[in-house]
Amino acid sequence: MEREQVIVFPQRNGGGVFAPERIKAFGDMLQRRQDRIRKLQWGIVAVYLFLLVTPACLPEADARAGVFASLARFTEALFWGVWWPSVILSMLILGQFWCGLLCPDGTITEFASRHGRGLKVPGWLRKPALPLLLFSLITLYEHLIDAFRSASATLLIIGGTSLLSLCTGLIFGRGKRVWCRFVCPGASIFSLLARCAVLHFKVDRVVWDAAPRPAPSGVDCPPLLDVRRLKSNEKCNMCGRCSGHRQAVALSWRAPGEEIAALEPDEVRGWEVAGILFVLIGLLYAVAHWSGGPWHRQLSAILRHWLGEAAFWQTEASRWLFAHGGARSDLIDAIAALASIVGMTLALGALVGAGLLLAARGQKKLAGALAYALIPLAGIGLALGAMEYSLSILASNGVDAWSILPWLRLTGLLTGLIWSLSLARRLLRHWRRYPERPIFVLPPFAAVGGLLAAAYQFAPIPA
Ligand code: SF4
Repeated sequence: MEREQVIVFPQRNGGGVFAPERIKAFGDMLQRRQDRIRKLQWGIVAVYLFLLVTPACLPEADARAGVFASLARFTEALFWGVWWPSVILSMLILGQFWCGLLCPDGTITEFASRHGRGLKVPGWLRKPALPLLLFSLITLYEHLIDAFRSASATLLIIGGTSLLSLCTGLIFGRGKRVWCRFVCPGASIFSLLARCAVLHFKVDRVVWDAAPRPAPSGVDCPPLLDVRRLKSNEKCNMCGRCSGHRQAVALSWRAPGEEIAALEPDEVRGWEVAGILFVLIGLLYAVAHWSGGPWHRQLSAILRHWLGEAAFWQTEASRWLFAHGGARSDLIDAIAALASIVGMTLALGALVGAGLLLAARGQKKLAGALAYALIPLAGIGLALGAMEYSLSILASNGVDAWSILPWLRLTGLLTGLIWSLSLARRLLRHWRRYPERPIFVLPPFAAVGGLLAAAYQFAPIPA
C-alpha cells in the first residue's frame, strides 16, 4: 500500500493512558522489553501445549469423567469461547498484537528458524492467496469432522497447524517468521481485519532518511517487512521491535479504517476482494451462523437423501478422516452438511459481490474497494458468531444467557454498519479525484450493508 503520509508526532500531554505520547512510550517499552516478552511467549507455549495435548491423550472413559471432563470443557471454552472472539476483536480494533507478542505458533516458528536450515523462501510459498486458501480448506475440514466438539480433532487441526509452523521455521528463514508472513491460515483473516485498527507503527520517512551516520543496524522485523516503507497494518505483527528505530518509528493512533478510506485503485487486489466476499463474509457466515439453523439441517437432509449410501464414498481414507473426527461419524451426513455450507458460502459471497457491482454501476475497481469497506461489519459479524459459540458453551454448562443475544447482535451490528458506511463515505470522497467519479454510490452500498447486517441479526441461534 504505497501512499505519501504527512506525519506529525503529537507533543501534548493530556489524554491520560490513551495520550499519543503514552502510546508511543508503550511501543518503545515493547522494543526494550523483548527479553521479558520472550519469557511470556514461552509461558504461553507451555500452557497452550498442555491444554491442547492433555485432553486428547486421556483415555475415552477418563475424558468424560471428573476432573478430566472439567479440563476438556475448560479447554474447549478457552479455545473457542474466549480466545477466538477476543483475538478477532483485538485484530479489528488494535491490530495484530496477538501475532507479534503472544501467538504460540509465532514463537515456535521463530525459535525453529534460528536453529533451522535457513533456506530461501521459494516462489510457490510466496503466493499471496495461499493463506486464504489454507484457511478455507481448514475451516471446511473442521466442519466436515465437527472438530469443535472433539479434543483429538482439535489436536489434529490446531496441533497440526503448529507442527507445520515448526517445520516451516526449521526449513526457511534465518530467525524470521516465514510462517507468519507467507503461510499462516489465520493471518489471512487477521491481515484483513487489522487494516481497520486504530493503532499502527508509523514511519516518518524524512526522519528515517535524515538519521545521523553511521546509521544503526537494520530492524530485526520477524515477518521480513521493509520497515522504512511500512504503510499498512496488513502484515505487521505489532511486535514493537522497530519502535524508536532512527527516531522515526512510533506506535501511533489513526482514524478507524484509515488505510481503507485512502485505498487507491491500483491497491485493490482481486484475490483479496474474493477473500472478503467468499471467505470473510460467505464462508464465515455459513459456518458461524448458517450451520446452526434449521434451513441448513433441512438442506443437509435433502442432500443426504440424494447422496444415499453410495459405496464409493466409503474408502479407507475417508474412514481414517472420520476416525479423527468429532461428533460426525457418518461420512454421507458430513458431506451433505459440507455441501450445504459451501452452497451458502458461494450464494452469499456472490450476492454481496453483485450488490456492490450494482452500487458501483459496473465499475469493478470501485466495487472491489467497496468490499474492503465492508470489513468492519463482516469482522463484527464473525466476532458475534464466536461469542455465540461461547453462549452455547455456557448453556451446555447450565448457564442460560441466550436472552442477551439479540441485544448483543443489535449493538455490534449497528456499530459495524455505521463503521462500514463511514468508511465507504470517506473512500468515495477520496475517489472523486479520478475521472470516473462515483455518483450516487453510498445509498445502494448502504442497502447492501443493511441487508448483510440483517442476515447476521436474524441468523438462527446455534443449536
Ligand atoms: S514492522 Fe516488523 S518489527 Fe515493526 S512492529 Fe511490525 S512486525 Fe514488528
